[in-house]
Amino acid sequence: MDVLPYLIVGAGITGLSLALRLEEEGKEFLLLEARAEAGGNIRSRTEDGFTYDLGPNTLLVRDPLVADQLQRLALDGIAANPLARRRFVLNRHKRLVALGPAALLGGKLLSPGARLRLLGEPFHARAAAEESVATFVRRRLGPEVLDWMVDPFVSGVFAGDPERLSVAASLPRLAQMEQEYGSLLLAGLRRKRPAMRSRLLSFAGGMQDLPRAAAAKLGDRLRCNEPVTAIIPVDRSWRVESRTGTLLAKRLFLCLPTDAIIRILPSTAQPLRDHLAEIEYPSVATLALGFPRTQVEHPLDGFGVLIPRRLGIPTLGALFSSTLFPRRAPDGQVLLTVFLGGAQEAIPQEEALLFRQALDDLSSILGIQGEPSFQRAQFWPRAIPQYNLGHSQRINAIDRLLRDWPGLSLLGNWRGGVALGDCIRRGWEAGQTAG
Ligand SMILES: Cc1cc2nc3c(=O)[nH]c(=O)nc-3n(C[C@H](O)[C@H](O)[C@H](O)COP(=O)(O)OP(=O)(O)OC[C@H]3O[C@@H](n4cnc5c(N)ncnc54)[C@H](O)[C@@H]3O)c2cc1C
Repeated sequence: MDVLPYLIVGAGITGLSLALRLEEEGKEFLLLEARAEAGGNIRSRTEDGFTYDLGPNTLLVRDPLVADQLQRLALDGIAANPLARRRFVLNRHKRLVALGPAALLGGKLLSPGARLRLLGEPFHARAAAEESVATFVRRRLGPEVLDWMVDPFVSGVFAGDPERLSVAASLPRLAQMEQEYGSLLLAGLRRKRPAMRSRLLSFAGGMQDLPRAAAAKLGDRLRCNEPVTAIIPVDRSWRVESRTGTLLAKRLFLCLPTDAIIRILPSTAQPLRDHLAEIEYPSVATLALGFPRTQVEHPLDGFGVLIPRRLGIPTLGALFSSTLFPRRAPDGQVLLTVFLGGAQEAIPQEEALLFRQALDDLSSILGIQGEPSFQRAQFWPRAIPQYNLGHSQRINAIDRLLRDWPGLSLLGNWRGGVALGDCIRRGWEAGQTAG
C-alpha cells in the first residue's frame, strides 16, 4: 500500500486551513471528514427568506494571516453594520445599557463605590500564580465589573464560568497586559497600534460560505462522509481506518474535538486520553427567531444584548442578526440569534421548551409581542472547550506525551484559542511546520 505524505482528519476550519497551507506548498495530502459537508460547527442555512447561522455568526479579522486566507479564497466578506460597535448588556434593573467608557464611568451599570474603585486599578500588584478570570477581575477591577461586564462577556464568547476559566489561557491578552504594564488601564493607554484595523465579517450565505470556498479549492483532496474509526502506528507511519477502507500516512493530523480524538486513539494511548478528557465542553443551544418588525419594540440598533448570570435569567444573550448583516430577514421582518446553556446554566432538552424559555426571557427585555414568524434550533451537546484552571499544564502534558507518537499531531479549538481566527492561524502554522 502507498504511504501518503500527509493525512488530515476533520474538515472544520482548523483542518481546512491546514489543508489549504499544504495545497499552497504543493504537498500531496488527503483530508477526511465524517459529515456530508465541510465546516464542522460552521453551519448556515437559508429558508423562508431568513439566512441564519447555527454555529459561529461572525469572523473577527484582526490578523493579516486571516485576511490573506480570505483573499486566497476570493472571499470578500460583508462588513458588519457600524451599529455593531454598540453592544448592550442588561443592568441590575433589567434595562439595556450600551457597553463602553460611558457605561464604565456613568451610573447606569456600576455603583459609585465600584467606579471609585476603578481609579485604584494601576496600584494592584501583579498576580504571582495562575488565576481564574473571576479572581483576576475581582482583584484588579472589583466584583461589580465581574458581575455586570466580564461575566456576560465570558458567557457570550466561551459559554463559560469565570470562576473556573483560567485568565492566562482564555484571555491571554489581559494576563499579558498585567504582566507587561502592571495595569490594564496603563496598558490601554500605552497600547501599540495593532498590525491591522480589525473588521467584523460574515458572508452573503452566512459563515458557511468560508468552508464552502475552502472545500471548492481543495476539490477531491477533501473526502466527505468518511469518518475515521481508528488510527494505529505501524513502522514509522500511521494506519488510518475509515468507512471505506485503510490508508497509510507518514504525517497524521487530527483536527478534531477531544472526544473524537479519544475515540480513535490506539488503546495504548490511555494517558493521552486521560488528559484530553479533562477538557470540559458545556452544551449550548442556538435559536434563530424571526419576527415581523412591528412585533419588536426595541430598535435593535446594535450587535446584541448580553445577560449577566447574576440576574437569574437562563438565556445567555441574543444577537440582532438582521441589523448586523444585510438580507438576513425578509422585508418587514427581523432576525434574532439567541444562545442558551453554557457552563453555568442547565439547558432544556426539548426544542419547544428552548423556544419558550428564549421568548419568556427576551419578550420583556426587547418588547416582543406575540409568537415568532420563524424559528429554528440547533443543540450543541459539546459546544465550546473550556480553558479552565490548569489548561496550559494540561496542554504541555499532552505535548510531552505526543513525543512518543512520532508523526502524529493533535489540533483543534481546544488549544490556542476558540475564535475562528485562532483556528485559521493554528491550522495554517501547523501546515507550515509540517516539513
Ligand atoms: C454555537 C457556537 C457559536 C460560536 N460562535 C463563534 C463566533 O461567532 N465567532 C468565532 O470566531 N467563533 C465562534 N465559535 C467557535 C468556533 O466556531 C469554533 O472554535 C471552530 O469552528 C472550531 O473549528 P475546528 O475545526 O477546530 O473544530 P470543528 O468545527 O469541531 O471541526 C471538527 C471536524 O471534525 C469532524 N470529525 C469528527 N470526528 C471525525 C472522525 N472520526 N473522522 C472524520 N472527521 C471527524 C467533524 O465532523 C467536524 O467537521 C462558536 C462555536 C459554537 C459551537
